[in-house]
Amino acid sequence: MHPVRGPCEAGAMARSSSKGTGATAASPHAPGQWVLVLPDQLTQEVGPLARDPRAGVVMVESREWMARRPYHRQRLALLLLNAREFAAECRAAGRSVHEASGEAPIVELVRGAHRTLGAVGPLPCMQPAEREVRAELAPLVAEGVLAFVQHEGWMTTADDFGPMPRGGWRMDAFYRRVRKRLGIMVDAAGRPEGGAWSFDADNRERWDGVPAAPEPPRFPMTQLRREVEREVQERFGAHPGTLDVGALPATRQDTLDLWTWALRECLPHFGPFEDAMSSRSRGLFHSRISPVLNLLRILPHRLVQDVLALDIPIACREGFVRQVIGWREFVKHVHDATDGFRRGLGEADGPIAPQPGDAGFARWSGSPWRPTHATPAGVDGGARPSWARRGDGGATPLPPAFWGAPSGLRCLDVVVDGVWAESWSHHISRLMVLGNLATLLEVDPRELADWFWVAYMDAWDWVVEPNVLGMATYSSGEVMTTKPYVCGSAYIRKMGDLCDGCRFTPGSTCPITPMYWAFLSRHEAALGDNPRMSLVMGSVRKRSAQQRRDDARVATVVRELLVHGKPVTVEALR
Ligand SMILES: Cc1cc2nc3c(=O)[nH]c(=O)nc-3n(C[C@H](O)[C@H](O)[C@H](O)COP(=O)(O)OP(=O)(O)OC[C@H]3O[C@@H](n4cnc5c(N)ncnc54)[C@H](O)[C@@H]3O)c2cc1C
Ligand code: SF4
Repeated sequence: MHPVRGPCEAGAMARSSSKGTGATAASPHAPGQWVLVLPDQLTQEVGPLARDPRAGVVMVESREWMARRPYHRQRLALLLLNAREFAAECRAAGRSVHEASGEAPIVELVRGAHRTLGAVGPLPCMQPAEREVRAELAPLVAEGVLAFVQHEGWMTTADDFGPMPRGGWRMDAFYRRVRKRLGIMVDAAGRPEGGAWSFDADNRERWDGVPAAPEPPRFPMTQLRREVEREVQERFGAHPGTLDVGALPATRQDTLDLWTWALRECLPHFGPFEDAMSSRSRGLFHSRISPVLNLLRILPHRLVQDVLALDIPIACREGFVRQVIGWREFVKHVHDATDGFRRGLGEADGPIAPQPGDAGFARWSGSPWRPTHATPAGVDGGARPSWARRGDGGATPLPPAFWGAPSGLRCLDVVVDGVWAESWSHHISRLMVLGNLATLLEVDPRELADWFWVAYMDAWDWVVEPNVLGMATYSSGEVMTTKPYVCGSAYIRKMGDLCDGCRFTPGSTCPITPMYWAFLSRHEAALGDNPRMSLVMGSVRKRSAQQRRDDARVATVVRELLVHGKPVTVEALR
């Protein structure tokens, strides 16, 4: 537990201080206004804190929230380190800081803090980006304890996004609109720099070791890092994943150092190798900025501004800008507009899971995930859109291979090992290895989304749900993409070295290609007239009845083996 002193409220410990870790009294410069800063809003650059340098800061550290799901230890350490360093930075800036921590949910800790501080009127708080936190805190808004104000950490607004057009929202249309409105990489007539809005086609090179991929920075051990390391091991010992606090940015300066590294070492090569995968470098030329960006330790405005100022090839510059003002903002709007995939999906609307899921943790570990506290009112297990179940595909439970049981499929095992080592992997490994295999196996999209949520330290519902439910598994149909992102072994081999040393041979013994054909056959009725898939569906139609039976048999054997935690072998597929 973080050192705490002071009055207890609702099983919580609270501390108010102005400077230094040992101070207990309220600041001599008592703030006129207290502001609630949620764990993913760690910035003084925007919002109520930016406008009032004397405003006091209320922060909460809820054990219930951190143990609601079996989150990766590295994610917990990232949250604890950044929140505590942020509190110290606010004190250093002369602010009073009131930290409420304890077993109770966030909602109770905030209510207790409001009472303790005797705050007159509602505490302002930037509108939570996470739907789950908004739902949990809604009663406090109704009670007059909290007042949500605009979240100023985004570069775009709901007006940029607009209502759902016929056939669904598309990232490229949104991205163009935003580029024009913000005047980013456009000339005076509104034409795109370089003659094209996207250089996606230049982002698909395989990486064979040249140029050398940079090693991500490490951060020196501090007293706080030692404390957090011990605390995560002791208090969150049942959580999975490798803990490596030296890999985590904690202070604002750490984030700036990480970003400087990304600008210098990654961005010049970001474009061409954006879609590459390698077992020799987990990160390649990706910036690794998402964990701290999603905590607002750095703002997207700064990322875009710095990248625009770089003298690098346009495919690198545009490729990165597209991820930040295109994909990142787009998925947030999709999540908001569909209320977390709960409405507006038509046929694909699904039921809501009653409780936060454990993502298959119990099946893998043999013991149920036991949250430490009752789940607060308003929090559920998220939407379960079900496009995949319109065909004859089933809801396969997430195989233990995603928790580290060897699958025999080298691409999957290499990526999963990296995720449990780092709580992060880059985009293409998420989409074309993890998402692809889960989709081909017809894994329950909700369970897959929960797995990404617990395993990745940059995961929050607004970003993980669109990427998993909307993009990777296509379980919300055409709401945000035109087709499922699935592939056979040819793509995985083409994009890197993951197949080297695999017991299977891509294009011959590898089961992923027959699984791909089997998936397309199963969903032929739904995908047959999709114009974006006409070529591949034409090939499906040409497959003989015997080929289709063979494809289906391979898919069934792989699914059965993996669901039972057994590796796939060449013999088993004969
Ligand atoms: C199945 C799946 C799950 C994902 N889950 C998450 C998640 O939980 N949290 C998360 O932040 N990203 C998620 N992504 C998006 C993307 O994979 C990560 O943002 C990216 O890999 C983070 O690494 P990076 O910072 O090195 O990114 P870079 O490759 O350096 O890209 C720069 C930034 O662009 C943004 N970005 C790029 N693509 C996306 C995208 N599709 N959606 C949102 N932002 C994007 C991120 O903020 C990222 O930091 C997911 C993608 C997939 C396919
Ligand atoms: S051969 Fe198949 S299973 Fe093995 S790494 Fe390549 S794509 Fe994956």
